[in-house]
Amino acid sequence: MNRGTKTDCPACGSSRTSEAHTVPDYEYGLSYRAAYLSCKDCGTTAQAPMPSPAQLAAFYPPAYHSHTNRGLLHRLRCRMRLQQCLPLPLEDGVVLDYGCGNGAFLEYAAQTLPGVRFFGYEIGPKATVTVRQQGRITLVEGALEDLLDRLPACRLISMNHVIEHLPDPQRALSALSRTLLPGGALVGQTPAAGSCEHRMFGSRWSGYHAPRHTVVFSQNGLRECLARLGFQHIRIAPAFNPAGLAVSLASAVSPEPVTGIPRQGVAWLGWLAAGTLLAPFDLLSGQSGIMNFRAEKA
Ligand SMILES: [Zn+2]
Repeated sequence: MNRGTKTDCPACGSSRTSEAHTVPDYEYGLSYRAAYLSCKDCGTTAQAPMPSPAQLAAFYPPAYHSHTNRGLLHRLRCRMRLQQCLPLPLEDGVVLDYGCGNGAFLEYAAQTLPGVRFFGYEIGPKATVTVRQQGRITLVEGALEDLLDRLPACRLISMNHVIEHLPDPQRALSALSRTLLPGGALVGQTPAAGSCEHRMFGSRWSGYHAPRHTVVFSQNGLRECLARLGFQHIRIAPAFNPAGLAVSLASAVSPEPVTGIPRQGVAWLGWLAAGTLLAPFDLLSGQSGIMNFRAEKA
């Protein structure tokens, strides 16, 4: 697998790959077609060549969707995320949300876990630090090093829909694992290459989210990657995924050249309803399009 100076699968290290295939941007209609290679050993799919950081930054249009941080749906999503973080005892200590967006999940979690200090991190062009709630929440924007300079040892690190956006997820995971206390946990959610949804929709699977998703791990690839980094008690479980299914369904009938899929209006609500009907079957398959992961530091 040839991506810049790297030649191996970013998950398992294998050099055996499939032929490259390109995927257009069904969701936002950018003209860039991302080229992906799949690992023949673990099934992880990654862009090759890997776009530069400047190219990656340009893949996010101003109208890029972000979840609303108001209302019932937001609170339900936060509650599901927090339940994934527990049952680690979290009466105190430090929790990091890597890829925290506007910090909405941290605000929710800070109300629920009064003894815990929270850090949030977002990639940004220059280092900025924002403190909220009398110092209980610290948001760091900048390079990974800007975070590591300030981050105390953590009880828990959450990476929700983040690792699939990183050009070198192993580097970030390796650096973060060193900040975890012994017995501390890494939890997160990411699309699953090789899932039923991937096999059914092929290059129109929402998990590509091309060209913004860089490395899409398979269940085996993620397990292998976390084990190579020294994590133990690695658990991977199917996740509830109506919006991902909605995007796959809408992509399946998208014209080419691509025009984008608006996340509003009657058509989108229809796809979302269809995705919600399919989601229980996706969950029951055991190979759902999105997976939850959890691993502990030895
Ligand atoms: Zn692999």
